[in-house]
Amino acid sequence: MALYVYRCEDHGLTERALPMGTAGRTAPCADCGSPAVRVFTAPRLSLGDPIRRALIDRTERTRDEPQVVSSPPARPARPEAAAANPALRRLPRP
Ligand SMILES: [Zn+2]
Repeated sequence: MALYVYRCEDHGLTERALPMGTAGRTAPCADCGSPAVRVFTAPRLSLGDPIRRALIDRTERTRDEPQVVSSPPARPARPEAAAANPALRRLPRP
């Protein structure tokens, strides 16, 4: 089976799974039944693992849309245990 795409003028794109080579120039629209014209699309190639693909997409995006921040990240809160230790209280403060 292959996936073919048809475009209805009123309802947009619709997909049909048909045996390869059997797709006609038109197919009835699923919503209105009027003839929808076949649209030729790029073959749907798999790029493998979705996590890997997301990493590639994010890496590509950093070229044009780098993440911009308006301030440095918030400092983590000081741990309470360090303040309670008398040995640590004698150390110089930053
Ligand atoms: Zn339609």
